[in-house]
Amino acid sequence: MVNITSTLSTLITANHILHYHDVLDGMGHVSVRNPNNNATFFIALQLGPAVVSGVKDIGEYYIEDGSPLSGTVGGYAERYIHSGIMKRYPDVNSVVHSHAEDILPFTVLPSLQLQPVYHMAGFLGSNVPTFDIEDVYKENDARDMLVNTPSRGAALASTFGQNETQPTSPFHTLVLQRGHGFVTAGESVEIAVDYAMYAASNARVQTKALMLAGLTGAGAGDGDGGEVQYLSQQERRDCTNMNKWVAFKPWKQWVREVERSGVYENELGTPPGA
Ligand SMILES: [Zn+2]
Repeated sequence: MVNITSTLSTLITANHILHYHDVLDGMGHVSVRNPNNNATFFIALQLGPAVVSGVKDIGEYYIEDGSPLSGTVGGYAERYIHSGIMKRYPDVNSVVHSHAEDILPFTVLPSLQLQPVYHMAGFLGSNVPTFDIEDVYKENDARDMLVNTPSRGAALASTFGQNETQPTSPFHTLVLQRGHGFVTAGESVEIAVDYAMYAASNARVQTKALMLAGLTGAGAGDGDGGEVQYLSQQERRDCTNMNKWVAFKPWKQWVREVERSGVYENELGTPPGA
């Protein structure tokens, strides 16, 4: 049996790291599958990520339908993002959902793809799909853009595609949500946080590269940033492997940053391995 205190400590600090680096603001969330019961997952209750500090702030839900276990009251309306992905992909143990402003422009420009411009974002892969919730709305549904039912969670999860060689894993690591944000998924909290952090970083760099290309005329005319040199397909694959073994390094630094910032509290102490 895994020590659940360690798991929850990691989850609490992940909330703080993502807030500290503007990947989450007062909204957005990160989850972790229960290591002792793969039918449930943990995620903060209806709180801003910066103020999640202890066991009292965390709920446990069934992956099957996102419903709470007894003892958990309320929670995020969008928790079905997390249950839907973990249900479809048994290898996914952590999910991050974010409204990061650096990424949002890429969700509303259909002709512009979020693509890896440097090695830390190779995990973005061959392409980053966009989930448009309008495709799953029925005629009379309210259109608040929230993935707030099991069926909407399943639809979003299917956008991740299936890894042909490992069907229990998704094909994509990250999906954009049109006019809303993005979702990323990994085999651990540390990896999901790494993906979220470097996706936002890549979006900042890509935006600057595209703007400079426009200013200098290098990318003028076609509107798709075609003159920006993105990673090749092989570089994307090889850098994805590199990223997995190097992820522990920034994670340890990010943990120290939030612990020493004076902004956050983790009643469960420093996460293991940090
Ligand atoms: Zn959201």
